[in-house]
Amino acid sequence: QAKRDGRGTYRVFENAMDEALKARARLEVDLRVAIATGQIEPFYQPVVQLPSQTVTGFEVLARWHHPELGLLMPTTFIPVAEEIGLIGELSYLILRQACVDARAWPSHLQIAVNIAPQQFQDPDLTQRILAILTETGFPAHRLEVEITETAIVQDLAATRATLSALQALGVRVALDDFGTGYSSLYHLRELRFDKLKIDRSYVNSIAEGDERAKLVDAIIKLGSSLGLVTTAEGIETETSVIWLASQGCDYGQGYLFGKPMPGTEVRRRLNEGLLDTGENPPVSQDAR
Ligand code: C2E
Ligand code: MG
Ligand code: MG
Ligand code: MG
Repeated sequence: QAKRDGRGTYRVFENAMDEALKARARLEVDLRVAIATGQIEPFYQPVVQLPSQTVTGFEVLARWHHPELGLLMPTTFIPVAEEIGLIGELSYLILRQACVDARAWPSHLQIAVNIAPQQFQDPDLTQRILAILTETGFPAHRLEVEITETAIVQDLAATRATLSALQALGVRVALDDFGTGYSSLYHLRELRFDKLKIDRSYVNSIAEGDERAKLVDAIIKLGSSLGLVTTAEGIETETSVIWLASQGCDYGQGYLFGKPMPGTEVRRRLNEGLLDTGENPPVSQDAR
């Protein structure tokens, strides 16, 4: 009896596995097509200075317009791209498009792109970024790259060399999702970052006096005593932004200020003066 149930369960499981594998195989095939045919597009989420809440730039976040499945989020396809070795191609495509878009925005606005761990190991990373900056005419000082601690674990010396090479170009380097890795203090001691991005799991619905608020406060102080700029990600409430600003957090990002949007929407908001970028006259259609 039990055995028969067991086999039945196994068969159901097998079918589910089969479906999952098929869906996965299809995603791989579709992703190759998507990269080749431009279905992947950068979206932009505003980053604001605190406490003024002036927009100083945008984080670039990949979106996939899948012909049948609709708009797909990076968490569904970035890991696949990493596994099949297409993450470099995908990221350079996103970076190039972002440089082209942002080149037409007011020149004090920055962009920040995410670099996947595997891409960070690419010995040509700095050269490829430089080539894209040169080709698009986008200045290095307007670019920031974000890496997570998973990119570092392999080889500290190589990481240090890559960071210095990027910084020598004028590109700034942020440590993303800070607080979710394993040995943050060690990495801060051994490597020179420009910025710490406090993970949104600490930030959302933060309230004075709770344990996470104490940790965030400590991270902000740690950052500033090491000369690092701090950004809080995932800010969704007015209360949390007031609190973060009062603790000395430098920048904020989150749905409260804006969700990731297409480049055309950034353009429209800039033209209509809907984004407070600290220099209020709206830019004209053909302004650089
Ligand atoms: P991330 O770099 O930590 O990006 C922040 C994520 O938090 C984004 O999710 C953003 O939409 C989301 N977010 C921002 N504010 C809020 C908020 O107030 N509430 C909530 N609930 N979420 C918020 P997204 O766009 O789904 O991206 C997820 C991750 O995928 C990114 O995390 C990044 O690690 C990766 N990613 C995105 N685009 C790229 C890319 O072009 N290349 C690489 N290598 N990775 C990318
Ligand atoms: Mg990021
Ligand atoms: Mg992050
Ligand atoms: Mg995060």
